Amino acid sequence: MFLKRLLELARPSYPHLVGIFLLGAISVPISMLMPLPLKIAVDSVIGNQPLPPILNGLVPASVASSSTANLIVVLVVLLGLAVLSNLQVLASWLLQTYTGERLVFELRNRLFWHAQRLSLASHDRRGVNDIAYRIQHDAPAIQFIFIQGILPLVTAALTFMGMFYVVARIDRSIAVVALVISPALMIAARRSGYRVRRAWQDVKTLDSSAMLLMNEALSSIRVVKAFNTEDFEDSRFRLRSRERMKEQVRLASIQAGYHLLISFAIAAGSAAALLIGIRHVQMGLVTLGSLLLVMAYVAQLYEPLRVISSKIPDLQSWRVSLERAFALFEENPELGGISGDGANAAPVSGRVALENVNFDYANGQRALDGVSFSVPAGTKVALIGPSGSGKTTLVNLLTRFYEPTRGCVLLDDVDLHSYSVTHLRQQFAVIGQEPVLFSATIADNISYGRFDASREEIIEAAVAAHAHEFIVSLPRGYETKIGEGGSRLSGGQRQRLSIARAFLKNAPILILDEPTSALDAATESELLDSLHKVMQGRTAFVIAHRLNTIRDCDVLLILEKGKLKEMRWRTEEPVFVAAEMLAQ
Ligand code: ADP
Ligand code: MG
Repeated sequence: MFLKRLLELARPSYPHLVGIFLLGAISVPISMLMPLPLKIAVDSVIGNQPLPPILNGLVPASVASSSTANLIVVLVVLLGLAVLSNLQVLASWLLQTYTGERLVFELRNRLFWHAQRLSLASHDRRGVNDIAYRIQHDAPAIQFIFIQGILPLVTAALTFMGMFYVVARIDRSIAVVALVISPALMIAARRSGYRVRRAWQDVKTLDSSAMLLMNEALSSIRVVKAFNTEDFEDSRFRLRSRERMKEQVRLASIQAGYHLLISFAIAAGSAAALLIGIRHVQMGLVTLGSLLLVMAYVAQLYEPLRVISSKIPDLQSWRVSLERAFALFEENPELGGISGDGANAAPVSGRVALENVNFDYANGQRALDGVSFSVPAGTKVALIGPSGSGKTTLVNLLTRFYEPTRGCVLLDDVDLHSYSVTHLRQQFAVIGQEPVLFSATIADNISYGRFDASREEIIEAAVAAHAHEFIVSLPRGYETKIGEGGSRLSGGQRQRLSIARAFLKNAPILILDEPTSALDAATESELLDSLHKVMQGRTAFVIAHRLNTIRDCDVLLILEKGKLKEMRWRTEEPVFVAAEMLAQ
């Protein structure tokens, strides 16, 4: 499964990987030619032997005999080889970087694509930091696996086979004896690989939890400063970082022990080969010269084996990272598994009904319990009830942020499932308690989600939300950049921008989830005007604690502990009065 996904991800980069491999292979003949100039210098410049046959035809025969000409040949070959070998290193470095970065780029893009489409329930469970860590810090392991893992492994394996062949040609039994240690190496590699993997998993978990802590502290820096808890946060961060440090050191000690084991095994293998070799010399089977040669080859035979064994724990650690990244893919994207996700894209008028709806959160918490109601298009619905009674949950079911556990939600008399999710969410404009602004210009923030909107439309929406006045008073007007989270604007101004955004979206259904509860009473009353205006002609669900906000609503839904306790229409008595009675 892991391997399959890995190979599939790398498929577009196969040609590049092969290219890196071939470029690496070029270095073998180049390094074999390196001693050539010296040999020519000694034999043909100082001495007077003919040039080696490899240069035949490249040098005109008429000059091939003069030693000055030969000197020039030496220098040309020397410089040529140097240029060639540097070009090879350069090309292979660039290609490795490009291929590695491309692999990471592709994987990150896919992960981000997938992460955005995970259900809110998955996001609740994982948390933003965990997902971000996997995309940002775990995904790059894919380039290490290929560039520093698999490719050198393949090269080493090929070198090993070549060397084995050469040794076996000279003395078969030495070759076999030299191989005896390989099973021991493989067992050691497996064992330490397993332990490295476990330790690496711990490191990764600690790492991402340290990042969570840091992110929380920095993004809540106002609270941290206000409560003087910098030292407390320091010590929490230090605690996790120290655990991580310990785990890293433990990891290194596992690897060091393993390397020691490999070195011993290789020494033992060489000793055994030497023993056999000496016997063979004594028995007259091979000459002393051949023994020296074969021992030199045995040393070279073990080099790739050392590379292979030392790569295995590294591969394990990269594998852990990649598995963490791939875990995001294992999670189904939103609504992926739900049947009846239809293609109904008909215009919606805004009749909303819930039929016997239950909703349980993933932790088993029942947030809605047998809720049924129905309102005609254009109704302004006030949702009230104590905190935690399920108001936000109810409106989240309308936009299919969550799926009801039981019962169904109807829009224009048909189940939500018969609409495509994109079309469904097009029908809603949501204004929450905390206006969400992006770090972009004011104009871009208003047109967020409707990027085709013209400047006239944007200004029109801002005027309707009474935001135009303060926007034009800013030094750069609509082009003013908003800091991260919109921190350079006041709460009321930010909320006006999200009202403008709702005006521009012009959706038939509006959800206002405590739009003014983060604001003071004076700012609230300034905003009410725009809020009432944006509700006009739409079906609206208004969650509010202050009666002002819901004064004009047509119907009052009173929730208590997830149950719909009461539903009162304005025709029965003014909603305001009802709510006031309730508040007593
Ligand atoms: P309200 O908006 O009326 O204050 P909510 O709809 O936010 O209430 O919450 C209803 C209940 O569901 C509460 O008991 C709350 O603790 C629980 N709840 C809300 N969100 C989640 C969540 N993401 N996971 C688990 N429980 C939740
Ligand atoms: Mg709420």
